[in-house]
Amino acid sequence: MAPVLYIVVPCYNEEAVLPLTAPLFLKKLEELAAKGLASDKSRVLFVNDGSRDGTWELICRLAKEDERVLGISQSRNRGHQNAVLAGLMEAKERCDVTISIDCDGQDNLDAMDRMLEEYASGSEVVYGVRDNRDTDSFFKRTTAQGYYKFLAAMGAEVVYNHADYRLISSRVLQELAGFREVNLYLRGLVPLVGFKSSCVYYKRAERIAGESHYPLGKMLGLAVDGITSLSVKPLRLITGFGVFVAFVSFIGVLWALITALCGQSVPGWASTTCIVCFVSGVQLISLGIIGEYVGKIYLETKQRPRYIISQRTWED
Ligand code: UDP
Ligand code: MG
Repeated sequence: MAPVLYIVVPCYNEEAVLPLTAPLFLKKLEELAAKGLASDKSRVLFVNDGSRDGTWELICRLAKEDERVLGISQSRNRGHQNAVLAGLMEAKERCDVTISIDCDGQDNLDAMDRMLEEYASGSEVVYGVRDNRDTDSFFKRTTAQGYYKFLAAMGAEVVYNHADYRLISSRVLQELAGFREVNLYLRGLVPLVGFKSSCVYYKRAERIAGESHYPLGKMLGLAVDGITSLSVKPLRLITGFGVFVAFVSFIGVLWALITALCGQSVPGWASTTCIVCFVSGVQLISLGIIGEYVGKIYLETKQRPRYIISQRTWED
C-alpha cells in the first residue's frame, strides 16, 4: 500500500507566490500517486504563519476548490520553525509520512520522488540537501556555509547544506512531539530523534515570486538559536578560557610582586589599563554568552505552547 503523504508548507505573506506554487504541489501529488509512491489520499497542508496579507484567504479558497488542499492558520506570526512544527504535528495522526517544504518554489519538487523511494527502502527521515548554492548571493552563501562549519565545530549535529526540506515518517514525528523545547531548531532536533536516515541531493532555484523573509537579522537570530539550543560548548569554552586567563594572571601577579620586591617597580599606567581592559572585556563577553543560556532556561521553564491554531479548513 502506498503511504499517505502530507506535504507541509509554511506560508508567511506569500500571496504573490502561492497561486503559482500551489498547482505545482497538486501536480506533484498526482505524479507521486501515479508512480505508486504516495497514496491518492495524500494532501497538501498549508500553514499560514500569521500573514498580514491575503495568504489565509487564498489558502481557504484553494481548500474549497480542491479537497486535496488543507490549511491551518496560526493565531499570529511565530516564525518559520514553529509554523513547520505546527503543520507536522497536525499531520502526524493523519498520514504515514510528511514532507516539509517552503512555498516559494525554491526547492525542487522532483526530489520528493527520491525521498519517497528512500522511505520505501526503510529510511524514516530523508534530508533534502542542496548540492550547490549558485542561486544565493555571495554573502548568503559564505555566511551560511561558515555557519554550518561553525555549528559542527561547536558539537551540534546538523546535516550540511540541509534546510527544512525533509521527509519525516509519522513514527518519528510521534517521538519529535516529546521534545518539549520552545527554542525550536528543527534542523538540529530531527537528527537528535534518531532512526534510520538518508540524504537526497537537489539543485536549489531562485524564489519564483515575492521576497525572502530571512533578512540578515532573522538569519543571525536563527544562527544564535541553533548554537545555543543545541550545544553547551560555548559555556565550556568560557570555562577553559577563564582557567587560561587565571593562569596568566597568576604569573603576572608573581612577576609584579617580584619586580616590586626588588624595588624596580615603575608606576605603570599603560600596563594597568591594558589589564583592566582585557579582563573587563573577557568578563563582558562571558556574561553575554551566559546570559544567552539563562534566557533560554527562562523561556523553557515557562513551558509555553509552541503553537496555537486558531482556524482549520476542515471540521472534525
Ligand atoms: N516563513 C514562515 N514564517 C516566517 C518567515 C518565513 O512561515 O516568519 C516561510 C515562508 O513563507 C517560506 C519559508 O518559510 O515558505 C522560507 O522563507 P523564505 O523563502 O522567505 O526564506 P529563504 O528561502 O530566503 O531563506
Ligand atoms: Mg525561500
